[in-house]
Amino acid sequence: QAKRAGRNALRFFDPQMQETINSRATLENELRKALELHQFYLFYQVQVDSVQEDGSHRATGAEALIRWAHPERGLVSPAQFIPLAEETGLIVPIGLWVLDTACAQLKTWQHDALTRGLVLAVNVSAKQFRQPDFVAQVDAAVQRHGIDPKLLKLELTESLLLENIQDTIATMNALREIGIRFSLDDFGTGYSSLQYLKQLPLDQLKIDQSFICDLVSDSSDRAIVRTIIAMAQSLNLNVIAEGVETEAQRQILLEKGCIHHQGYLFSKPVPINQFEAQLRR
Ligand code: C2E
Ligand code: MG
Ligand code: MG
Ligand code: MG
Repeated sequence: QAKRAGRNALRFFDPQMQETINSRATLENELRKALELHQFYLFYQVQVDSVQEDGSHRATGAEALIRWAHPERGLVSPAQFIPLAEETGLIVPIGLWVLDTACAQLKTWQHDALTRGLVLAVNVSAKQFRQPDFVAQVDAAVQRHGIDPKLLKLELTESLLLENIQDTIATMNALREIGIRFSLDDFGTGYSSLQYLKQLPLDQLKIDQSFICDLVSDSSDRAIVRTIIAMAQSLNLNVIAEGVETEAQRQILLEKGCIHHQGYLFSKPVPINQFEAQLRR
């Protein structure tokens, strides 16, 4: 009886829901093939240090952001496929591709005075970080390309870090021994307490763009940003703001002591040739 009801219930499925499921299955199949079809690209968004004697800013590195060039859909945003990649486990091979491509890029940067010393930040998802061979994979990528590991920065999120704090610390310490650095992405949107933060071998806090967006008009956002900056200072961490879009936001951040910025004010994420052309200007 229950079985029958269940079967009947299927008939009342909202056709739109069925369509969603089909397109999800289609997307998953396409995602599965995207790696071998070379449909992924890394875009690069500059990170700057805003305190220069002449008031200008200087590029210190970039964040690598994945793009999927889909033959029919065009450029698919990671917000659309990273969650699916995580659920299906496809994030593991995709993440390895990102890591390898980022290391190859760092290697070519070492040959040119203009790009030598730039730090490249790479996003790492929880599933990827929890792979038993993650440390070995990062080490292998660094060795394979012969890069300075200090130039590779892994961006982790609060939820990832807090999932299993003892494991996290062990993995981070092993990576730190290789020379890898860490930034805590989207900071302020999770639940990490100072107690947790002080245990983690982090180098940087990255203030989430949701606090930067209304910085000029919203005094609570200003208070939050001020607190995050103070927190970073007391924990001896570097702090960067993401989503900096206006000069007014940049000025407030500078007043509060945050000099590392990333956002559309400086550049959107762009393909590698455009990124290098920006540096030349
Ligand atoms: P995220 O790591 O927090 O990256 C910042 C996002 O903000 C990027 O979106 C970037 O394009 C966007 N952004 C940068 N500056 C501004 C600005 O001034 N204003 C506004 N409104 N947005 C700005 P994107 O590239 O769509 O990436 C979205 C998310 O997808 C990333 O958030 C990250 O969580 C994930 N992601 C991207 N690439 C990778 C990857 O290679 N691996 C993994 N695991 N996740 C990735
Ligand atoms: Mg990031
Ligand atoms: Mg972020
Ligand atoms: Mg984000």
